[in-house]
Amino acid sequence: MSARTRLVLVGGGHAHALVLHGLAEAPEPGIDVALVAPDRFAPYSGMLPGHVAGLYSREEMHIDLERAAARIGGRFLCARAIGFHGAARRIDLDDGTNLSFDILSIDIGITPDIDAIAGAREYAIAVKPIGDLLAKTDELIERVRGPGGPRRILVVGGGAAGVCLAFALKARLSRENGAGAALAVAIATAGDIAPEINAPARFLLRRALAREGVGLRLNARVTAIDAHGASLADGTRIAADAVLATSHAKAPAVLGLGDLARDPDGFLAIDETLRVIGQERVFAAGDCATSVAHPRPKAGVFAVRQGPALFSNIRALARGEPLRPFVPQRDWLMLIADGRGGAIASRGRFLAFGGRLAFRLKDWLDRRFMALFGD
Ligand SMILES: Cc1cc2nc3c(=O)[nH]c(=O)nc-3n(C[C@H](O)[C@H](O)[C@H](O)COP(=O)(O)OP(=O)(O)OC[C@H]3O[C@@H](n4cnc5c(N)ncnc54)[C@H](O)[C@@H]3O)c2cc1C
Repeated sequence: MSARTRLVLVGGGHAHALVLHGLAEAPEPGIDVALVAPDRFAPYSGMLPGHVAGLYSREEMHIDLERAAARIGGRFLCARAIGFHGAARRIDLDDGTNLSFDILSIDIGITPDIDAIAGAREYAIAVKPIGDLLAKTDELIERVRGPGGPRRILVVGGGAAGVCLAFALKARLSRENGAGAALAVAIATAGDIAPEINAPARFLLRRALAREGVGLRLNARVTAIDAHGASLADGTRIAADAVLATSHAKAPAVLGLGDLARDPDGFLAIDETLRVIGQERVFAAGDCATSVAHPRPKAGVFAVRQGPALFSNIRALARGEPLRPFVPQRDWLMLIADGRGGAIASRGRFLAFGGRLAFRLKDWLDRRFMALFGD
């Protein structure tokens, strides 16, 4: 390595936000940081549905990456990485330049598998990547406000993200244009609702969906989307004026452009130190990485947990110290907001509660996270 360590962070995901915070709290004078991301402002997923629901302002739920990099004397490069060369210690950027590194870390999230459903590319709103979502929901809300705008909104995919968005859209649109009765929001999902939460929480969730008037079609595998709704595998139809697709996501193709090890699904394969398998100087975290020893669902809660471990292992590598293994938690708290100041909480197999207390906990946790990046 050169006398100073050139640390390149690719992507402004949640884990990298925490690396920047770590470096701000405990400065490492020997490290020069360059952060590469296509957008200066990175949305925090925990507050994203709350913003759609009208509960948080845009500033409250975005991390200013340029400011976070500047705070530690680092550079922010507004660009997209298009090639990763571990052996040559270089990445390629979409502006035609490249960047050499001593240590590289990749946290670029996940991308929609829009072609997995026929017609989705043309007719559906893909919710991933989350950086692009708000412009699309703003546009949808604008259309709903207009005369003759969509009145039946279908969310395809009943995972936590789809459920939160359905709640948020229902709450916001009902409140804003008084179209409550005329406006229908429904979820169609291939299996059961929110498989990532426990059975008691799922019971509370179904009750909350019914109370808010969000329709639910279980065991409804959507195979095609068109201008008038969705077709299901069993041959039936769901009529809709606007469709949001939350169900299919895949590894960003760019991860395959270079020499980094990937798992069979195309995600970067990482070891317990969060380094890409076979790479001494390349780390990866968040949705774009899969821990070979400890695979977990792709969720922001894991990206957040990886952040401090990623920071200390990057620092250890720069200092020539041993790296520590990181084992992600087996049980985690899931909090699904209902868009009206309530939430459903789930942890492990049995803990479940709902209502305003659950939302207050979620709000406190989310604001505490965002406060790390404020003034
Ligand atoms: C509506 C919704 C609600 C959700 N709510 C929750 C929740 O409550 N709890 C939860 O645990 N999870 C939630 N999720 C999932 C969560 O959003 C993701 O798991 C989380 O954002 C993953 O974080 P990450 O660090 O992997 O990267 P991301 O947050 O996806 O960020 C990736 C970053 O990389 C940048 N980038 C992308 N490509 C490149 C490139 N080629 N070069 C450089 N930079 C690049 C992007 O611009 C972005 O800054 C939700 C998802 C959605 C859609």
